[in-house]
Amino acid sequence: MAYIIAEPCIGVKDQACVDVCPVDCIYEGEDMLYIHPDECIDCGACMPVCPVEAIFPEAETPEKWHNFIAINADFFK
Ligand code: SF4
Ligand code: SF4
Repeated sequence: MAYIIAEPCIGVKDQACVDVCPVDCIYEGEDMLYIHPDECIDCGACMPVCPVEAIFPEAETPEKWHNFIAINADFFK
């Protein structure tokens, strides 16, 4: 399991999460940022610092954003 970034990050990209991630597994894409599913250590540090609540533990991702689980993983393929 890993944490994932969902729709609220789109267009915000303030990178507050990047600053606190201890393993540097959050990467910037064109529209939003993405968490590498194999590099994330599930520490949870990024979740509270996101100003728009875009970050979730994969298993707690709201139903409407379940597609973002694959969107995060696919960014690294
Ligand atoms: S849960 Fe921890 S390791 Fe995973 S992306 Fe967030 S800060 Fe990085
Ligand atoms: S803190 Fe939230 S809005 Fe900011 S870049 Fe990270 S996921 Fe996107």
